[in-house]
Amino acid sequence: MTEKYLAQPDLDFIAQVRGLGGDTLKKCYQCATCSVACPIAPEDSPFPRKEMIAASWGLKDRLIGNGDIWLCHQCGDCTDLCPRGAAPGDVLSAIRSAAITEYAKPKVLANAVNDPSKLPFLLGIPAIWFAILAYITMAHKETMTKIFHSIFGDVLGGRLHWSHAHEGAEHVIAQADFFSTWFVDMTFVPIFTAAVLIFVLNLKGFLNDIHKNAVLEGKTDKTSLDFKAMVQALIKILPTILKHDKFNECESNKDRSTPHMMVLFAFIGCFIVTGIFFVVLYIFQTAGPYSQLNPVKWLANISGVAMVIGSAMMIKSRLDKKDDQLTSYKDWFLLGLVFALGLTGMLTEMARLAHMAAVSYFFYYLHLIAIFNLFAFLPFSKMAHFVYRTAAMTYAEYSNRK
Ligand code: SF4
Ligand code: SF4
Repeated sequence: MTEKYLAQPDLDFIAQVRGLGGDTLKKCYQCATCSVACPIAPEDSPFPRKEMIAASWGLKDRLIGNGDIWLCHQCGDCTDLCPRGAAPGDVLSAIRSAAITEYAKPKVLANAVNDPSKLPFLLGIPAIWFAILAYITMAHKETMTKIFHSIFGDVLGGRLHWSHAHEGAEHVIAQADFFSTWFVDMTFVPIFTAAVLIFVLNLKGFLNDIHKNAVLEGKTDKTSLDFKAMVQALIKILPTILKHDKFNECESNKDRSTPHMMVLFAFIGCFIVTGIFFVVLYIFQTAGPYSQLNPVKWLANISGVAMVIGSAMMIKSRLDKKDDQLTSYKDWFLLGLVFALGLTGMLTEMARLAHMAAVSYFFYYLHLIAIFNLFAFLPFSKMAHFVYRTAAMTYAEYSNRK
């Protein structure tokens, strides 16, 4: 017997999958109804039956680096039809969560994001940090102005207020009077850059493992990873992702598609708005707040509303289906975060327009805490699913796995 067929059960992995919501994995008796029912599974070597047996045997290496677990969109069609009451959709979701934890580094952060008892720390750290920044912004304006001018001299220091608030515009409520925009950017730019670098490193290992497993299981005839061809595959698969084509192939997903797309496009809109305002501020040196007639502001407001409504619909859907679709702590963490992000952003803006400075500043404070959690824990939270799934779908396209 070759090593390829040796089963080396990892009992800790079985316990981990069960703990993450895959507690029905031992119920499976391999009838394959799920693989037939799944509208997304490829004809050649379809999922999720083979993943169910691998999970019940504790074959961690074959599952963690298995691209197929990411092709599943957790619609629950297979779970509805399983004659044994196993929930293959939830088992695959649990394996995906285990995979994110496995690839995520540093582990201490990954474990903290998955542990409800650590939530006060995840929220408390940015809460304290931004409280300190607000104190410095408001109580030490003169000192900060001197420091700013001595660092940047006449180039920037002479033209822009150190906190990026409008000079001489006391009647205008500007968040920069409460939290210096410099402080906010000096917090988020390094955090976001670190999150992207961590993602790149994690994805490298992930794609290598997917490829190794695909070769081992005969799912591809490619001998090595060609990154140029991978980029071409990504460009090809992007419209499918943006239009949620695969997502919509699952019958049970039809009503989940709209809120998913609202949240996805809300994030894309917010990303564009942040990029434009960043360039306007640092290249053209024009500070906010910007006019409500500004088209970029429209995009910001539409994105904010879409984020609130889309995430609220997703939360309602989860609550309505709580008996037949598993929602883990990780799901609630992300859903709550996205909802809080959209809501605090909109309330900040509404309070500002209503000339309620203190209320606007308070909501902005909560908004910054939400952004911090989103950026800092991006590679470890459920949000990472989007990136891993995109990478797996890209590999499927690259390797002609249809
Ligand atoms: S339908 Fe249920 S019992 Fe049959 S293979 Fe799938 S998970 Fe196992
Ligand atoms: S949950 Fe849906 S997409 Fe995932 S394996 Fe089951 S039927 Fe397929």
